[in-house]
Amino acid sequence: MARYIFVTGGVVSSLGKGLSSASLAYLLQSRGYKVRLRKLDPYLNVDPGTMSPFQHGEVFVTDDGAETDLDLGHYERFSQVSAKKSDNITTGKIYNDVLKKERKGKYLGKTVQVIPHITDRIKEFIKNDSSKEDFIICEIGGIVGDIESLPFVEAIRQFANDIKKKNALFIHLTLVPYLKSSDEIKTKPTQHSVKELRSIGIQPDIIICRSDRSIPLEHRKKISLFCNVHINNVIETVDVRTIYEAPISFFKEKLDKRVLDYFKLRSKKSVNLSPWKKITNIILNTKKQVNIAIIGKYVDLKDAYKSLDEALTHGGFDNKVKVNLVRIDSEQLKISEIKSKLKNISGILIPGGFGKRGTKGKIEAIKFARKNNIPFLGICYGMQMAIIEFARNKLNLKRATSSEFDKKGLPVIGLINEWNKDGKIIKGTDKNLGGTMRLGSYDAKLQDHSLVKKIYGKSLIKERHRHRYEVNINFREKFEKKGLIFSGLSPDGKLPEIIELNNHPWFIGVQFHPEFKSRPLSPHPLFSSFIKAAKNHK
Ligand code: GLN
Repeated sequence: MARYIFVTGGVVSSLGKGLSSASLAYLLQSRGYKVRLRKLDPYLNVDPGTMSPFQHGEVFVTDDGAETDLDLGHYERFSQVSAKKSDNITTGKIYNDVLKKERKGKYLGKTVQVIPHITDRIKEFIKNDSSKEDFIICEIGGIVGDIESLPFVEAIRQFANDIKKKNALFIHLTLVPYLKSSDEIKTKPTQHSVKELRSIGIQPDIIICRSDRSIPLEHRKKISLFCNVHINNVIETVDVRTIYEAPISFFKEKLDKRVLDYFKLRSKKSVNLSPWKKITNIILNTKKQVNIAIIGKYVDLKDAYKSLDEALTHGGFDNKVKVNLVRIDSEQLKISEIKSKLKNISGILIPGGFGKRGTKGKIEAIKFARKNNIPFLGICYGMQMAIIEFARNKLNLKRATSSEFDKKGLPVIGLINEWNKDGKIIKGTDKNLGGTMRLGSYDAKLQDHSLVKKIYGKSLIKERHRHRYEVNINFREKFEKKGLIFSGLSPDGKLPEIIELNNHPWFIGVQFHPEFKSRPLSPHPLFSSFIKAAKNHK
């Protein structure tokens, strides 16, 4: 049977529960155990698919088509295990499921309540779809004390009791702040947070203290005493210089060892930290740099393109260069400024996006990349904009547009009303916004002698999608005649998946999101090749 590790947070959010969970997963895997990571989110949206990236950061997409919290991206990048639909749930989804069941009369006339019906559904999620794993790490979103997270905390308390406490471990991550004015480290917020957790029935087994400096022994002792946790299990995590250092830092603090000790398990292998050391070294010590412009709508919020930023950075590892991300707001990008703003840029990337705002700036930047031989990568919306730019300026189809933002023009990008995925019809024109896109992993066939085939080194690829609109295949001949090749297609040949330009050093558009599959220990070939081209661009 799997052992369960529950990770809660205290004092403030954004302390890095996701990164801590992901690092722990790597360390346990490296010691020879099979690990799976899960996230329970307390908000009421049924999934994060309809949330603005401004508010909540990127929506991460899994192979099986779930739109999930961006923490699942961290999990995948560190553990290399592909997440699934069954790895992320929200309060909204839980209530949705319970209420649907209630409407069907499945509760046999009983009063439906938070305890036991909501908590039972949470427990079902925690246990669901797992068999061979040695550890399941479940992160609870938000912090202890939030009204929203109460049912989750109650559910994990019950769960630990159900499976016997020795099979469940509670980790609590808190902030230990330093006060400059009094030159002191404060343990009180941690004490309060643990008190809060204990008041709802959970005694943490391990406390991870996030701090900007090392926590002296006497303070650790204090935390141990007041929070009733053995001193060995009061673990510090001092701010790291790069996230890739986190597994190294948790190993030094013996987090994985404490976890195994708790479960009375032995290490099967010794931990291999060399890949992380190598990456950290590249990030901290590489002098050579390339500037990549990301031109999009959500550049103000750092997490909005999380996987993309990561994938570009990974591309740098393969080429031993540091990738500087220059974020440019497409709405503010004036035609007259393009030349000056893109002066020191070696590669231009247009990420995924929705809606009309900012499209003008994107199209102009693409034109600039095309004409000036600057390496260009268009992702999803970025590829669609590249098609529009080419149609307008090279095919002389001045009314070329996407029906997403202009219903009257010539739809070189348009909706196909029905998709058939796994036997299930997905309607692109459905009035419901949630879950109505082409989502998840789909195959694409790559054309012989194309640049993409050379990059991937194979002819059939699988990539993750998240979009409603498609490039209209009927224009293919027109485009190809002028040198824009549809070099990747869906296996039935109906949907353009990849485009590339002949007579350009590196110009590729992809309808999918390769960034979701890039991992620091195995960078995605498209990003490695893009960064290589940028490195060679003078
Ligand atoms: N808005 C476009 C579509 O729905 C592109 C989506 C995206 O970039 N992920 O097709």
